Amino acid sequence: MTAPYEVLLFYKYARLDDPDVFAADHRRLCQQLELRGRIVVATEGLNGTVSGTKENCAKYREALDKDPIMAGIAWKIDPEEGHVFPKLSIKVRNEVVTLELGEEDFNPVDLTASHLKPLEWREAMKADDVVLLDARNDYEWEIGHFEGAILPKVPSFKDLPKWIRDHRSELEGKKILTYCTGGIRCEKFSGFLLNEGFDNVFQLDGGIVTYGKDEEVRGEGYEGECYVFDERLSVSVNQTEGAKLVSKCRSCGVPSIRYRNCAWMPCNAQILLCEDCEERIGRYCDCRCKEVDLMSRSAVIGI
Ligand SMILES: [Zn+2]
Ligand SMILES: [Zn+2]
Repeated sequence: MTAPYEVLLFYKYARLDDPDVFAADHRRLCQQLELRGRIVVATEGLNGTVSGTKENCAKYREALDKDPIMAGIAWKIDPEEGHVFPKLSIKVRNEVVTLELGEEDFNPVDLTASHLKPLEWREAMKADDVVLLDARNDYEWEIGHFEGAILPKVPSFKDLPKWIRDHRSELEGKKILTYCTGGIRCEKFSGFLLNEGFDNVFQLDGGIVTYGKDEEVRGEGYEGECYVFDERLSVSVNQTEGAKLVSKCRSCGVPSIRYRNCAWMPCNAQILLCEDCEERIGRYCDCRCKEVDLMSRSAVIGI
């Protein structure tokens, strides 16, 4: 059966003089094509992920490919049965990915590390003197990452510069291979590393998603799933025999890819929780959340 919808993941670093005007035009285009998803526009470019019918996604790609400022996007396309976003959101921000470098900010059009194609990446990964550096958030690499990668414990991308400055000694003098989901964060992050004085830096072209789709490497060396920011929550990467799950139920530790949100509303943290544990302890990230929630509920009903 062929899937009637597609999910597109894309970005383009460029120079947009007037992101507000660009965003307004872009909104009209997306509405016309009944696309849903999240798009961020900034003077430094465009970052987005949308779902729509196959036909409309093709029209959307064509429209951007024809635009001289946007031409050359490396589209990541996944077939899907329907929309994977509830609505369309287009926002104008200071950056397409939030690294918050402030005064030190730069456009990756001017500064970024060399790109490695999937096959080059697989070879480079095998050398002794390299470190693999995950540029994603902790809740993302928790469910999957390249084997042996350094996994910075940061809740958000903007915390990564501080982490790097605190962990300089682990990276100094090494060849650094950095990667993220679709490549956009690494364009900026690898430029940041160069600015910090690391001179042997490379980035995975097109990110994990492209690496998983490449017919030659087929995701080799990647463990677990790849977190994605839509209703699918994760997609598989490694199509080889070495594929395995790395994520575990937070409570009992069995291999699991089952996401739930903590039932205590003020927490609402996204957690990995197996079916058995949910049945046993309820949908909570820990005992504290459970206790507070049960207490607040009993206070409401006055017992
Ligand atoms: Zn469990
Ligand atoms: Zn909680």
